[in-house]
Amino acid sequence: MVRPKKYRFIGKKPQVDFFKPRGIPLSQLEEITLNVEEYESIRLKDVENLDQNKAAELMNVSQPTFSRILENARKKTADAIVHGKAIRIQGGVFRMVKRIFQCISCGNEWELLFGTGRPRNCPECKSTNIHRTNAMTGFRGGRRHHRNGRHGRRWD
Ligand SMILES: [Zn+2]
Repeated sequence: MVRPKKYRFIGKKPQVDFFKPRGIPLSQLEEITLNVEEYESIRLKDVENLDQNKAAELMNVSQPTFSRILENARKKTADAIVHGKAIRIQGGVFRMVKRIFQCISCGNEWELLFGTGRPRNCPECKSTNIHRTNAMTGFRGGRRHHRNGRHGRRWD
């Protein structure tokens, strides 16, 4: 029996999913594919400057697994840059995760990006009576569909 693959958590979807080098005819163009987990590992480590333990935790993987994903991602990207290959970002086994906070006092809900601290107050009524609701959407291999979050919450 093959163990089902665990979902990796992704905090931010790629804004651009294809990069093409200038001046190379299509017939000669080679392409590498980064999956979304590999993309996310570069974003967390090299753009957000998180340490590997924190980044691994955010992606729901062990630190050695994170390290392996990151190494693959860097090798592929380096290959593309040095050899003039196109980069496509697609595929993988992952879920989008957002940090959503809810105010108990006024019912206000708001979203924050990963890497920012936990807020103290509700931005609307300044109440400190707030809690976090994790929500996810299914987003696999480029097809997108919505799912209920851990606490049964739904978002679009
Ligand atoms: Zn409030």
